[in-house]
Amino acid sequence: MTMLMTMERKEWQRRLGEIVHGRIAFDEPLAAYTTLRVGGPADAIVFPESIEEIRGVVRMTRAQSLPLLVLGGGSDVVVRDGGFRGVVLRMGRNFAGSRVIAGDRIEARAGESFPSLLRTARTGSLAGLEFLATVPGCVGGGVATNVGAYGQWFADVLVSYTLLDRDARETNVPRDQMEFGYRYARLPEGSVITGAVFQLTMKPRDEIEETVRNYAQSRRDSQPLRASSAGCIFKNPDNAKQAGYLIDKAGLKGMAVGGAAISEQHGNFLINRGGATANDVLTLLAEVRKIVKKRYDVELEPEVRILGEDE
Ligand SMILES: Cc1cc2nc3c(=O)[nH]c(=O)nc-3n(C[C@H](O)[C@H](O)[C@H](O)COP(=O)(O)OP(=O)(O)OC[C@H]3O[C@@H](n4cnc5c(N)ncnc54)[C@H](O)[C@@H]3O)c2cc1C
Repeated sequence: MTMLMTMERKEWQRRLGEIVHGRIAFDEPLAAYTTLRVGGPADAIVFPESIEEIRGVVRMTRAQSLPLLVLGGGSDVVVRDGGFRGVVLRMGRNFAGSRVIAGDRIEARAGESFPSLLRTARTGSLAGLEFLATVPGCVGGGVATNVGAYGQWFADVLVSYTLLDRDARETNVPRDQMEFGYRYARLPEGSVITGAVFQLTMKPRDEIEETVRNYAQSRRDSQPLRASSAGCIFKNPDNAKQAGYLIDKAGLKGMAVGGAAISEQHGNFLINRGGATANDVLTLLAEVRKIVKKRYDVELEPEVRILGEDE
């Protein structure tokens, strides 16, 4: 039975409708909102367009003890087949936008996609975000996961970010109060990132374009960018070879469970070949972990966040 039970459903629908002027959907599969294309339905998914709407959703879910899940591009998550009992706050195109401020900074809303953020930087001849070339996701998700590639991270270029805490208070977090790690940011429990400011460096535009082209080409050569995936599925372990190398060495490229398979092109990419369930994905993930542990005594930790409930 869903948390928004039949009797209460109309009441919740009405309340959310009063708070959020953007789209609201009930019982919609979250597969449509993740790049891996798996995941069962959310009781409710809302697409707020203003900070007031986000604040209203945070307040309402808090007051009603409803679980709240924030999703950006859905490119670093595996949502289980049972979906999510509670309200999903989608911070994508509905809450996007970025602009150059003070000559060499960019201010972005949390739902701004990486391609769009990078476009603002390129157009303004601002260097520092080229590593985002071909990486999917949004600014809020990028802060929450400290997105990085080629030895560069969001943490290197962030000046500040803003968030709403679980009491819906807006806080600006300056650089000296940020805490980041590998694919990790320490955030107050239940907080919603609403925007960020990046410090970049003025550079000739053609140099920026060349770096973007090189990164994009190197990714196209090594990663299955056309397949549905969540990027690298495991973190690279400390004091051991890269996860993709170990998986390849163990002969696991091409291994499949249902519609989920380890990419033939890149051992650390788990792809949805079509029709995969979250159960297929998680079974394959567990199997790979078991084999790598047995062969190399290395515990691979998922890089993706596994969310929601079993069916
Ligand atoms: C083809 C491909 C290539 C990739 N390459 C890379 C790479 O090179 N480097 C890398 O680091 N990652 C990579 N990734 C993973 C992914 O792109 C990043 O982790 C990205 O930062 C996730 O952003 P998102 O908006 O999609 O987050 P989501 O997947 O939507 O969410 C990720 C986490 O952040 C939280 N979150 C999202 N938005 C907010 C918000 N506004 N406030 C609070 N919490 C929030 C979510 O609750 C969740 O826990 C790749 C993924 C794919 C599919």
